[in-house]
Amino acid sequence: MEDRLILIIEDERELAEILRDYLAVEGFKAILAFDGEEGLRAFETVHPGFVLLDIMLPKMDGIEVCKRIRIQSDVPILMLSAKSGEMDKVISLGIGADDYVTKPFSPLELVARVKAHLRRYRSQEPKENTSRTLIVGKLKLSKDYYEVLYEDKKLEFTTKEFDMLYFFGNHLNLVFSKEQIYEQIWGMNEYGDISSVATYIKRIRNKLDEYGLDYIRTVWGVGYKMTV
Ligand code: CA
Repeated sequence: MEDRLILIIEDERELAEILRDYLAVEGFKAILAFDGEEGLRAFETVHPGFVLLDIMLPKMDGIEVCKRIRIQSDVPILMLSAKSGEMDKVISLGIGADDYVTKPFSPLELVARVKAHLRRYRSQEPKENTSRTLIVGKLKLSKDYYEVLYEDKKLEFTTKEFDMLYFFGNHLNLVFSKEQIYEQIWGMNEYGDISSVATYIKRIRNKLDEYGLDYIRTVWGVGYKMTV
């Protein structure tokens, strides 16, 4: 996650650009997305340290985007709304945003809030109880021991296979493209072959198949997801 990188998901381009400029003055780099789907994709690709999220957006609204980001991350999210009534509704939904601002607002005030949230977020102690064990259906994945247990029986997975399984387990029901999976498991800088993703998926599936676990699904034309 990049602290100085801020994702602005806002379909009013002019407003998004003004915010980008104000943030730039403070040394932040902003990535702009103009609809909900694009915003979610950008989030998953650039891993920003902060998200400014409009509520009324084309394709996928800000509420849904917020929920989906929360499944995978506790990044600070500040929601923008055109109407205060709309905001009340969103707050009552408890979707996990950190702050709410109603338009029109002063860009300077907004930047100040972003900075305050980032300071608070950074100063948080690493959460205790951050469990490094995942229960995924009938599997128990322990990141500390790189161990996969099925009904107390230990299954053999290589390190990379485990990483992939753990990644999917951490993001149940979310679809990832081969490129996204590759980046997660091997990293952007590693020079390799995207096709190895399919090879690893196949191996993981074969191992799970022995126990009748059909957890990794292909989403044709898109990628893969884990469902239990
Ligand atoms: Ca809007």
